[in-house]
Amino acid sequence: MRERIDIAGISISPDHFIGGKRVSSPYTFETRCPFDWSWKLADMARGTVTTAALAAQAATDAFPAWAALTTAERGAYLHRLADLIEANVEKLALIECLDMGMVLESLRLRVILRGAANFRNYADLASEHQERVWSSRGTANRVIRMPAGPALIITPWNAPFMLSTWKCAPALAAGNTVILKPADWSPLSASLLADLIDEAGFPAGVFNIVQGLGAELGNALTSDPRIKRISFTGSVPTARVIGKAAAENIVPFTAELGGKSPLLVFADADIDAAAKKAAGQYDDSGQVCMAGTRIIVEESVREEFLAKFHAYTDAHVMGDSRDGATTMSALIHPVHVSRVLGFIDRARAAGDTIVRGGKLWKEGANWIEPTLIVPKSNDSEVVQNEVFGPVLTFQTFASEAEGIALANSTAFGLSGMVYTGSAERAERVGRAVRGGTVWVNTFLVRDLTAPFGGIGISGIGREGGDYALDFHSDLKTLQILE
Ligand code: NAD
Repeated sequence: MRERIDIAGISISPDHFIGGKRVSSPYTFETRCPFDWSWKLADMARGTVTTAALAAQAATDAFPAWAALTTAERGAYLHRLADLIEANVEKLALIECLDMGMVLESLRLRVILRGAANFRNYADLASEHQERVWSSRGTANRVIRMPAGPALIITPWNAPFMLSTWKCAPALAAGNTVILKPADWSPLSASLLADLIDEAGFPAGVFNIVQGLGAELGNALTSDPRIKRISFTGSVPTARVIGKAAAENIVPFTAELGGKSPLLVFADADIDAAAKKAAGQYDDSGQVCMAGTRIIVEESVREEFLAKFHAYTDAHVMGDSRDGATTMSALIHPVHVSRVLGFIDRARAAGDTIVRGGKLWKEGANWIEPTLIVPKSNDSEVVQNEVFGPVLTFQTFASEAEGIALANSTAFGLSGMVYTGSAERAERVGRAVRGGTVWVNTFLVRDLTAPFGGIGISGIGREGGDYALDFHSDLKTLQILE
């Protein structure tokens, strides 16, 4: 076990949390602050095959007793953890801000509290669940949810706390033990979460957190036969690798992947609200899977929309995410900055028009100016592939059918946004746009019991509400002769 580190007055363990104890590794990886890259925050334990095996065994050993608890007993632990998250919101928000770069205000007021809500929601939902019972063909039928075993939860670097809690809560509520592997670009809030798991008194081995690199620790975990569920959020290429490992062990696997979501604006919409929301897609420098990155506007309101969009975009402020004036957070890592600039350079070279932005905000900093691109054609790489940066494309349409066709013209299908003043069109176009979630005249408002997931290469399976509880359970039909 290594010494805890002080980061801006917050004590952080650089180690894993396995079997209720802090466990170290001989190697480390570093994490830095996205908006002040000279600031090395920590050297974190870099898990190996040994770490994976230890965590898998701890989760396996703890499983029978955890699975044997009632849903209400498990729910009590989840509520305790939610209480602790609420009590530590300032600490969690600051560490997430420093490590991932998201704006502090938004973390304090919304994002971290959503993490507590995730645990509460699943504590209650699992307890309220009624087994489905019916009579047929002379037998009493009963559908029973049985805990499945150790669940592996793998999360990406964007919104790490919110996503980890969203994914771990249903696994625990369903009676599975958990191994959480956060991304190595933003590992710190998970380490604080481990402290809270400890304080909440979870039995040893029920909720484990291991730190490390995907290709090393991640691979070792996904191939371990003791793992009975894999719940992954991240990129399409990684999902392909993990999917193969899951197939090898015949383990159910869900994948929440990238997006290239349309933001469709009709002439009958509140154009000011639509333009404001479109400019808001730059808030987290576009590092949001559900971001509406393809702006598709009815031709007749093109000029009005663009004038308002540029005005709202001009108002963005880049800077220290702890500063209340900052509206646009930095990109997570210089490697990611280069990746995003690569998309812009290739777009320029292919004949797409860079309408605004397209370059670094200032040398040596992790911001790229808010960028708008009018593609040469709908086949342009920047239209068809996820950039995950502050890069939006702009296209227009003449008819509703053409707008819908453009909206549905990529291999992704995570979400969509439609702006219209017509209730009939809202219903019609909302149904026609391809996406696991489609918002009309709003964005990111989500009910925790609704299904969430992607169509096409945006993912496999659904999270949220009962959907995640079913995934984390082995469903059994019990039939007894009447
Ligand atoms: P990534 O795929 O590179 O990494 C995600 C996680 O997988 C990390 O923890 C990483 O260490 C791990 N990993 C990498 N290789 C692995 C392997 N071989 N075996 C096991 N684990 C491995 O993704 P990222 O760059 O961290 O995240 C950005 C992506 O996530 C974007 O595509 C974004 O759209 C997507 N995302 C999707 C959602 C959603 O809900 N659909 C939410 C957030 C982010």
